[in-house]
Amino acid sequence: MSKHHADMRTRQREDSRNSRTHARTETEITRRNALNRLAAIASLPVIAAVFDTAAAAPLAYHLKPINIADGVWVLYGVPEAIDRSNGGAIANVTIFDSREGAVIVDTGPSKRFGVALDALARELTGKSVARVYVTHFHPDHVFGNQAFNRATIAAPQGVIDGLASLGEDFASAMYHTAGDWMRGTEVALPGRVVSAGVEEIGGRRFHLRPLSGHTNSDLALIEEKSAVMVAGDLVFLDRAATTPHADLGNWRTSLDALKAIDVRHIVPGHGPTEGGHRGLEQTRKWLAMIEETIRAAFERGLSINEAMAEPLPQWTATIALARYEYERSVMHFYPKLEAGEWPRVDKKT
Ligand SMILES: [Zn+2]
Repeated sequence: MSKHHADMRTRQREDSRNSRTHARTETEITRRNALNRLAAIASLPVIAAVFDTAAAAPLAYHLKPINIADGVWVLYGVPEAIDRSNGGAIANVTIFDSREGAVIVDTGPSKRFGVALDALARELTGKSVARVYVTHFHPDHVFGNQAFNRATIAAPQGVIDGLASLGEDFASAMYHTAGDWMRGTEVALPGRVVSAGVEEIGGRRFHLRPLSGHTNSDLALIEEKSAVMVAGDLVFLDRAATTPHADLGNWRTSLDALKAIDVRHIVPGHGPTEGGHRGLEQTRKWLAMIEETIRAAFERGLSINEAMAEPLPQWTATIALARYEYERSVMHFYPKLEAGEWPRVDKKT
């Protein structure tokens, strides 16, 4: 679709929305700070393709817990990029009931989300929140932290360090893309450092597996009683993987490590919970596809724009945001190829 047509479609959508709802017209900040925003969002893992206008809907997250095992619920993120209609609620969040209280994995994109999550966890379990684990430092997974007691929020040191150094940039990018949903949100670092091992909380045993690849510090958890694995963004299912901080070689090694663990349910960072290895395999296949496509484009001497326009294999047609994330991966990796900083990693298959 040409830019002109995209603009027209956006305009038509705005017109119909405004006439339908008499919503406020585009906020001033959208135009005035457009350039600043572009600079700020360049570092975001997931961004909106179109700057949406002020949404007419009231800003409340409607959290819908889905029970996946006895005393275990998942709040599924929408398979979209962060924008002003979804408030950044695009990543999965998991809640476990335990005798000591709720155990939450990832806190969502904003303070507002975190507050709603805390209330939901209390409602589901009838107890307060005993522990929060954070799988990695990306903003769609950590910006609900503020709603919880810092001492209860646990993450590997690498996650804390990453959030400490990148958090402010993530915050400004999120304010620009998600808008008022972010009101009051600030970077809140986990107060408890965890490493590989088992933590027992109220009759549940959480096996912590610090890994890397999606970022330089990714935490996967396996809860023994439910045989649920929470894989964080090491696994994407039916939604294209994001790569702004990825090391593809390490990511493959982590996928191997997760595959060797016997569980009943795998909760991906984005996408549905399943019993088998489809998420692990699809993530591996996606990473191999982008690496091969981008490298081949580079070796043929294509410009970055030409590389972004390369055709994708047919199987990716059912993956949400495939074209969008592929283009973003070209933006992440092409400069590295040009600088000779993207060494070839031996592929498994
Ligand atoms: Zn991520």
